[in-house]
Amino acid sequence: MTDIKSMDLAEMTVFFQQLGEPAFRAKQVFQWLHRGARSFGEMTNLSKALREKLTQTCSLCPPQVERKQVSTLDGTIKYLWRLGDGNCIETVLMRYHHGNTVCISSQVGCRMGCAFCASTLGGKVRDLTPAEMMDQVLFSQLDSSLPISNIVLMGIGEPLDNFDTVLRFLRLVNSPDGLNIGMRHISLSTCGLTEKIDKLAEYQLQLTLSVSLHAPDDETRSRIMPVNRSVGVENLFACCRRYFEKTGRRISYEYAMIDGVNDTDWQADLLASHLKGTPGHVNLIPLNDVAESPLKPSRRVAAFQKRLEQQGITATVRRKLGGDIDASCGQLRRKRMREEQANM
Ligand code: SAH
Repeated sequence: MTDIKSMDLAEMTVFFQQLGEPAFRAKQVFQWLHRGARSFGEMTNLSKALREKLTQTCSLCPPQVERKQVSTLDGTIKYLWRLGDGNCIETVLMRYHHGNTVCISSQVGCRMGCAFCASTLGGKVRDLTPAEMMDQVLFSQLDSSLPISNIVLMGIGEPLDNFDTVLRFLRLVNSPDGLNIGMRHISLSTCGLTEKIDKLAEYQLQLTLSVSLHAPDDETRSRIMPVNRSVGVENLFACCRRYFEKTGRRISYEYAMIDGVNDTDWQADLLASHLKGTPGHVNLIPLNDVAESPLKPSRRVAAFQKRLEQQGITATVRRKLGGDIDASCGQLRRKRMREEQANM
C-alpha cells in the first residue's frame, strides 16, 4: 500500500499523473488529507472510481484515541493514540497565551537511554512515518476543536534519530496548502546528536532548536545521558556555536533539575562559563517524577536560576502543565504498557 499522506504536493502530483489523472487532483487530495480526512470515501469532489482505486492502493490509517485525559488544572489535553500496527504514542496539547501548542512524538519508544526519561524504558520500537507525525497535529486539532498554532517536537523519541522523516514532516506542516504552520512556530528538541545538528544547520531553518543539556560536566552528563559518552560537553557546545553561526538562531538549553545530581552551585557556574559568548537561553525544568526512576526533583531550582542570572545568563523556569494527567514524556504510554502486561 502507498503511504500517500507522507507525500509532499510535488510527489503527489507525479503520483496522480502516473495514474493518468490531471495534476489538480493532487491538490484536492492533499487538501483533504491535510484537513484530517479519515477515508477516500469522504473526498466528494473525486469520482467514485478514483475514490475506490485510492482506497485499494493507498493506506491512510488514521490513529484511534486509545485514551484522552484533560487536566482540570489548566486544560492541558493528553492523547494516547493507537497506530495502525497497534503501537501507542502520545501527544500533549497545551493552551498557552501565545496559542495552542502540540507536543508530538517522533518515534515509538526511544533508544537514547536517558536515566530520567520514561520514553526510553523498553527502548525504541520503530520510527514514526511523516504521516504519523502529522496526524498527531491534525487529529488533536480536530478532536479538541482547538486551532493549533505551534508545534514542539518534544514527545516520545529522538527527532534527529529519525532525521529524514522529521524534515519531511516539517515540510508538510509548513505547506500553504496544508496546516501552514511557520517554522518560527516550531521547536525541535534533541539530546544532542552533533552530526545531525550539523546536518540540520545546513537547511538554515527558522525553527527553534532546543538542546537537552541537563548537566554541564562530562561525568554527570554521561551518567544520566549515555549519548554524552561519545560526544562530550565541549564538543556539544562547539557544535551549538556552529549551529548559531550558520543559522543565526539562538539555541535553548533544557535543564531538568535533579536533586543532588545537577543542581549544585559549581554546576551553575560551569554552565554559565560554557554559555559565555554564545547566545542562548536556559530553560530550567522541575524534574517530573518517573515511577521507575530513583531520581528525584531538585529543591534548588530558584537558587540555581539566580546563580545563572548573576552571571548574565538568561534562565527561565518552565511552568508545569498537566501535572494531574501524567503529561510528561512517555508516562501515559508506560502506564498503558504496565496495564497490558498485568492483563496478560
Ligand atoms: N529526545 C529529545 C526530545 C524528547 S524529550 C530530547 O532529548 O530532547 C523532551 C524533553 O523532556 C527533553 O529535554 C528531555 O530531556 C525532557 N525530559 C524527559 N524526561 C523528563 C523528566 N522526567 N522530567 C523533566 N524533563 C524530562
